[in-house]
Amino acid sequence: LTPKVIDGGTRPLPTLTAENRPFWTNGHDDQLHLQRCSSCGYYLHPPGPICRRCSSRALHWEDVVGTGRVAAWTENHYPWTAAIPLPYLIAIVELDVQAGLSLLSQVVDCDVSQIHIGLPVRVAFDDIGEVSIPLFRPIA
Ligand SMILES: [Zn+2]
Repeated sequence: LTPKVIDGGTRPLPTLTAENRPFWTNGHDDQLHLQRCSSCGYYLHPPGPICRRCSSRALHWEDVVGTGRVAAWTENHYPWTAAIPLPYLIAIVELDVQAGLSLLSQVVDCDVSQIHIGLPVRVAFDDIGEVSIPLFRPIA
């Protein structure tokens, strides 16, 4: 994805394609949507034209439970964009729905002293126009 800044004031947004549009635009109901293979049931992220496990082209989109655990994280101090106050937490979140399925995202409403590998988190969306950016919050 090629990040771009629109209006100079929002976080970098993904370039929407036919393949990734359902992922980036269907979060307005606070529900995480992932591509899934209709043949073998494997969830795919990032989305693509073919199942990475069985090579089937029969794919569909499903609502999934947006919970997971922090698999890796870092605290960012570099001003990549003026739209996100510094510092902020970047994390790889392994989703509960399938072992090894992860999203690179931001953990919000979380102090650096609180985050750790294994921290349970739940998706929360930052809606910007038609795009919904999946972020994660600690589960209280
Ligand atoms: Zn498959």
